[in-house]
Amino acid sequence: MAAVRLDKVRKVYPNGHVALEEASFEIADGELLVLVGPSGCGKTTLLRMIAGLESITGGTMRIGDRVVNDVAPKDRDIAMVFQNYALYPHMTVRENLGFGLRLRGVAREEIDRRVAVASDMLGLNERLEHRPAALSGGQRQRVALGRALVRDPAVFLLDEPLSNLDAKLRLSTRVEIARIHRRLGATMVYVTHDQIEAMTLGQRIVVLNGGVVQQLDTPMNLYNRPANLFVAGFLGSPAMNLFQGTLRRADGLQLETRNGTIALGTQAHALETWLDKAVIVGVRPEDLLTVADHTGVEERLRAHVEVVEPVGNEVFLNMRHGDAELVARVPPHSAIQPGTDVALGFQAERLHFFDPETTLRIA
Ligand code: ATP
Repeated sequence: MAAVRLDKVRKVYPNGHVALEEASFEIADGELLVLVGPSGCGKTTLLRMIAGLESITGGTMRIGDRVVNDVAPKDRDIAMVFQNYALYPHMTVRENLGFGLRLRGVAREEIDRRVAVASDMLGLNERLEHRPAALSGGQRQRVALGRALVRDPAVFLLDEPLSNLDAKLRLSTRVEIARIHRRLGATMVYVTHDQIEAMTLGQRIVVLNGGVVQQLDTPMNLYNRPANLFVAGFLGSPAMNLFQGTLRRADGLQLETRNGTIALGTQAHALETWLDKAVIVGVRPEDLLTVADHTGVEERLRAHVEVVEPVGNEVFLNMRHGDAELVARVPPHSAIQPGTDVALGFQAERLHFFDPETTLRIA
């Protein structure tokens, strides 16, 4: 196993496109770190730089104690699992699993031993003599994972390995990957654009946007204290509600918006310097509470309910507040009907404050 360390690592493609601005962080030995962000944010580029498949324009990349900037992929002691895994169609599962080891001249008995361990771990024992054409999509993806496992590398690199699977298989394979990680204690870097996958798998998550690392933290810290508006909006579904306005002091702090004034119920000292300035206040849908369904919640604003979406264990209320759209997640027994007005409140400590200019969190 090994840690991976990036020191001011940059990537500029030959056409001048900056795919990654200077990034510095460490993936700890044995950690499962997720790189997440929208399409084109640079996550695949970063993973390919760790793998050695893409050159490094600036900075230093280390795997373990070794600087690997100029080390060929095959000498980096990494194994990569791609979204479009290519299995050899004419080989059985057993042969597919052992092929890479055979190329490396590993002894027959050792290959058999490692293939047996991987096939056990992935539940492929019954399929070892089958060819890929006779496997389901999920089983093929497991073979692709197995090919990485038998290598026993210092670092596993996974690039959207579940994106070709249907929703149910994606879920079970995701759990499988978490289990394998726990069992091996291996260093893994996992790329996805799916925030749920990122939140459930990552011990820590790097959120990327436009080639810039937005925040690196644990899933809960990212969710509870997003560093900027991008992270606030990217993680969480439905997305965080945002109110734009000017911060005023009357009885406590208030937000003066185009759609009326909202009492914030907070005195937070951190906000002193923001008085009479423009701010953005964020409230997650689960923190926007319907007064009717929660005792002790004070009314802070009223909104018009447009669409009610039951999703099983809860209901999404899609509402309008003046020219702003709001979403609240409410209990399934809530009797709120579309076309009615609802009173809404929140706990002051669940509010997020951002600077509209820099987009950074201020409190
Ligand atoms: P996706 O989720 O769509 O795969 P990504 O976050 O993995 O996106 P990258 O594939 O890393 O994004 O690409 C980052 C940016 O670099 C994109 O704007 C892409 O168009 C650009 N890019 C990728 N490869 C090259 C290349 N060889 N030459 C020039 N630009 C490139």
